[in-house]
Amino acid sequence: MSLIELKNVTLGYDKHIVLKHLNINIEDKDFICIVGPNGSGKSTLIKGILGLIKPMKGKVVYNGLKQNFIGYMPQETKVDSNFPASVMEIVLSGTLNSSHSIFYTKENKDTALYNLRLLGIEKLKNKSFCDLSGGQRQKVLLARSLCATSKLLILDEPSNNLDSKSKKELYDTVVGLNKEHGITILMVTHDLDHNNLIGNKVLSLREDDIFFGSIDEFVRRVHND
Ligand code: ADP
Repeated sequence: MSLIELKNVTLGYDKHIVLKHLNINIEDKDFICIVGPNGSGKSTLIKGILGLIKPMKGKVVYNGLKQNFIGYMPQETKVDSNFPASVMEIVLSGTLNSSHSIFYTKENKDTALYNLRLLGIEKLKNKSFCDLSGGQRQKVLLARSLCATSKLLILDEPSNNLDSKSKKELYDTVVGLNKEHGITILMVTHDLDHNNLIGNKVLSLREDDIFFGSIDEFVRRVHND
């Protein structure tokens, strides 16, 4: 079943076109790695899918999925790591999408606790975010983005600035969310080359050379280049 379809979508800013004629079908339970050099349009694509920018041409179709029920984890650099808040407060803030009140409900708190448990970090809930290691912070931010969704997570370079052990742990966690909990994943990554990509599909953005398909097809293509 298709969750999101990009139909002949062109994205950009004012008159500056960044990505042209995208035809992409994001299926339920897909795990898609988005790769490409800096400036190739990875963030622009994410903004287009999140509805933060409107397509210049074509359309994005959401099948049974409300835009604000997509979980989104921005790059770590975009979150102030000295923010004086507890882990629970940070994770709870992820429930605001589905809340109509300025106060957190019991349901919001249960959702936050559920996701802390899901990622095995419940014991961190009363700690201050600034006292955590890089890997722990990323898991907290992942738990926050999960509070918005049980369907689709968009992760923008989640392993940025992590050491190799924490990177592996984070990727294992994301693979588990996809395989064991059926969550569809779209992940921008810069540190997985074609030999160690994870997931089932790749979207490679490279100026006018856009590839979308299985990892096997992508690897064959890279070897034939
Ligand atoms: P990536 O995420 O792959 O590094 P981006 O999507 O950030 O690439 O950028 C793609 C192109 O769009 C770049 O040429 C960049 O300068 C341009 N761009 C990004 N954001 C804006 C913006 N808000 N206004 C105008 N141009 C932008």
